[in-house]
This record gives sequence, C-alpha cells and structure tokens, in this order.
Amino acid sequence: MTVLTVPPVPQDSGPRRTDPGGTPLPPRYEDQWIGGAWTASDAEGRLVVTDPSTERALATVPAGSVRDADLAARAAAGAFERWAATPPRERAALLRRVVEAMEVRADRFADVITAEVGAPARMARQTHVGLSLGMAAHCVETAASYAFEQRVGHSLVVREAAGVAACITPWNTPLLLTVQKILPALAAGCTVVHKPSEITPLHARLLAEAIAEADLPPGVFNMVVGTGPTVGTALVTHPLVDVVSLTGSTRAGREVSALGADRIKRVHLELGGKNASLVLDDADLAASVAATVDQMLFNTGQTCLQWSRLLVPRDRQDEAVRLAGQAMDGYVTGDPRDPATDLGPLVSADAHARVTEYIRRGTEEGGARLVRGGAGRPAGLTTGYYVQPTIFADVDPLTTIGQEEIFGPVLSVIPYDDEDEAVRIVNGTRYGLHGAVWSGDGARAERVARRFRSGLVDVNGGQFNPAAPFGGFKQSGIGRECGTAGLEAFLETKSMQLPQGGGQVVGPRLRSTAAARPADTERNDG
Ligand code: NAD
Repeated sequence: MTVLTVPPVPQDSGPRRTDPGGTPLPPRYEDQWIGGAWTASDAEGRLVVTDPSTERALATVPAGSVRDADLAARAAAGAFERWAATPPRERAALLRRVVEAMEVRADRFADVITAEVGAPARMARQTHVGLSLGMAAHCVETAASYAFEQRVGHSLVVREAAGVAACITPWNTPLLLTVQKILPALAAGCTVVHKPSEITPLHARLLAEAIAEADLPPGVFNMVVGTGPTVGTALVTHPLVDVVSLTGSTRAGREVSALGADRIKRVHLELGGKNASLVLDDADLAASVAATVDQMLFNTGQTCLQWSRLLVPRDRQDEAVRLAGQAMDGYVTGDPRDPATDLGPLVSADAHARVTEYIRRGTEEGGARLVRGGAGRPAGLTTGYYVQPTIFADVDPLTTIGQEEIFGPVLSVIPYDDEDEAVRIVNGTRYGLHGAVWSGDGARAERVARRFRSGLVDVNGGQFNPAAPFGGFKQSGIGRECGTAGLEAFLETKSMQLPQGGGQVVGPRLRSTAAARPADTERNDG
C-alpha cells in the first residue's frame, strides 16, 4: 500500500481525469460517506489503489484522517436514538432495499473485486458477490424474525441496540465480510461507521452508494476509508463508539483489544487461522485431497478459513502428495479477467514478498520437502503479484510453515502415526478457526470433529451454513458472526423487573423490614 502526500484537487474536478496528453488518469476520489452525504476529506495523504494483476493504479482515495473518523462517529451517534427506536420490522424493510440496491450492482461489485483484489472474474461473481448477496438477505431476515423481547418470570428481558458500531474489515473477501458485519449491526438498531481495508476501498464506495440509494436516515451508515493506525485507531478509541467489530489479522486484533480495553468497549474479533484438513485412515484419499486442494487454493489461498495443513496417515503421504499435485494441475494461474483463470495474483507487493519469504523459509527450515512450486514466479507471468501454487511434504508441525498463517497458495502436508497424534497436531497452533475431517465412517468423523479446538469444522465435506455461528477459538478471535449469534453481537441485554401484582412499591430495606414485621406491614396497609 502506497501512501502519498500530494495536494488535494478541488472537489468539482470529478474523479475522471486525463493527463496533458489526453491519456486517462486513475480516478481520484476526494470524499467519504458521512452523515448521508459524500463529504470532503481533509486528509493530506492519499492511498493509491493498485490492480494486483497489472501493478498499475486503479484510483486514488483520501488516506483518511482523525477528523473524518470523528465526523463519522458523531454522525452515527446523532442518528442512533431514532434508528434504535425504529421498530425492527421497519428497519428490516429499509435494509431489504439495501439488498436490492446491491443486487442491481452485482456485476459492478464483481468487476471492482476483480480489479482491486485480483479475484478471477468467475469466482468474483459467483462466490464473492453471490455469497455476499445471500448473506445480506439472510442477515436481514434473521433480524426480521428475531424475538427482541422475552418474559423471564416477572422480568421483561429486552435485547436492544448496543450503540455506535465501528466495523473494520479486511481486503480478502471484502464484500462478504463487510455485509456479514454491517447488516446485522444495522438490523440490530446500531448505527455504523465502516472502515474498509486501505488496500480495497473501491467496493466499499460502491456499497456506500447502494446504501445511499436505499435512503436510510442520514448518519445511520457512514463509511470512512483510511489506514488502521489513523482511522482505525481513531474509531476504536472514539468516546462515541460503543462496539468495535474487527475482521483482520491476529496482530490487528491484539492492538484493537488493547485500545478498546481502556474504555471497556465491546470488542468483537474475527482473526487469522492455520486450519487443518485431517484425512483419517479410512477416508477416500483422492476425494478428500482434491477437496482440500480446491479449498486451499480459493482466492489464491487468501482466506482465513483456508485448509493450509493437510494431515495424512504416514504410510499414505506419498500417494496424498501425488494426488494433491494432480489436483493442482487443473488450476490455471493468470489474468483474473480471463474467464479461464482459476488463480489470480496475490493482493499486493507486500503480500507477494511475505508469501515468497515463507516459501523460502519452508525450504530452509526443519527438513520439509518442496515437492511442487517454489518461491519463483509462475512461468510467463512477469508482471503482477503472482506466485506458484506450492506443496511441501514431511512438514514438521512445529516449524514456521506448520504454525504461521501464510495467506497464499501453499499447502503443508503433515504425516501422522495415529488418531491421537493427528488431533494433537490439528490443535497444536495458537489458532482455532476452521478445520475439516474426512472418514469413511460418518460417526467416527463426527467424533473426531468434536475433538477439534476450533469454531468451525467441516465433516466429510459439509457445506458452509450462513445461519450457523462463525468465529474462532484461541487467537482466532472472540465472539461469533452469522445467524442469531451475529445479530446478538450488536445487542445489549436489559432486564426490567415488573411489579408482581398487589401494586405495593417497596425498596430492599422496606422489603426486609416487611418480612421481619409482617403485622406492622398489615397495619400500615390498613
Ligand atoms: P489486517 O489486520 O492488516 O487489516 C484488517 C483491517 O484492520 C483493515 O481495515 C486495517 O486497516 C485494520 N487495522 C489494522 N490495524 C489496526 C489497528 N491497530 N486499529 C484499527 N484497525 C486496524 O488484515 P488484512 O491483511 O486486511 O486481512 C487478512 C487477515 O484477516 C488474515 O489474518 C485473515 O486470516 C484475517 N481474516 C479473518 C477472517 C475471519 O472471519 N476470522 C476473515 C477474513 C480475514
């Protein structure tokens, strides 16, 4: 990510520009979505949004400022009382309009995600956008049918909006992860400030445009582009922000937790993973290895849920490695706009440097065998942040590539001797987000899945379920998204004790006096 300091151009110059020779220049945006209007940013620095397949600038946006964050938090706080008091059914009706406005823009969202993330076009449309639209509708309908009030004996237990929510999101599946936060927050009655990743702000501008079209009251939704250290920190520490929901790295989660602790903020964290796909000795090896490779390569390996470790019985490792290599042969790496492409580039030069460094360390440390790929670029791809899909075998689970989240298309094959050892390896990292278990015996697979210390486990290829809680154990996070758990992340609980008939109003002292002197109480009543 490049942060440039350049003088701002006047707002009315519009985003489309040309150089003196008439060559189009990248659009230049000057504003943030605050208080129901595109509002000029006072940030001096600018962010260059880069197309990772061409390494060229797609656009420049304001780098964001503490003032932008403050204006957005104030706008959200100003809109809170009315939005929180709006009946849930009316909120849901307005949010259905957001979903419709997103649907109308589905192709534009896909194009933007291909451009700024490098996601292959087919995958961008079907998975990034398709899943996001489904998730958005699901979040709205979950809230529409949620019981916000419940009687517990003589108490009325009310679930009400937790306040102003700062929703901070990453770049890797940016629309899905944003939708899965902001729609439950809005449906719960919170007002929102969204801070997208500084690497991929363009889909967030398009989402703000869709939300603007749905005509939510001004200030209910705000979007401020900027870096974590400036805008992110300003939001997390802002006195008007009540809830912080972050999806990102464990490093960012640690910083946000510490910043939020001072004011006892509600902090919800969805963080990294080093997830294992465990193939038991009675599993269909070919099917489970092919499924693992497919999931591992999704988004060029840039997903928190990625099964980056493949655990196989030691005597079947060679066969598993051969099958994994065969499966990888079917994936085409190249231009994400080409419909034939399966694997695009990594998102940025930094990501490219990080992943190739991990591959180098894998070849140097702990006796792992590089059996496919490596740190060099794929043949013929000299421009763009491309890496080769890579397989290491005989990986020691305690080495760097066995422990750390690489966030690229790198598979560590780890052999094991028995089921107990396999489970120890699965659980032997600081993460606990996702996993998979494969067995010819469904009951055995389920029994082993129960031993995983992770928030999600796919059993014999079970599919993602947006209604089921989503989140991690250990350093993979705190709290859950999706389904009713995702809605409840943005709710506070209030218990109202109602009078129990008789109408007599007494405090604790009077009550204890009454208990001690029933005759007096009776006399007083009389
Ligand atoms: P990142 O941590 O660099 O950034 C995520 C977001 O946090 C960005 O908007 C960033 O600006 C912001 N941020 C960073 N430091 C901050 C700070 N100190 N205060 C406030 N905000 C701050 O992560 P990334 O590179 O964008 O995304 C990749 C990471 O996200 C991976 O570790 C991946 O596993 C994780 N992730 C987790 C999930 C999940 O659901 N558990 C989903 C997707 C990605």
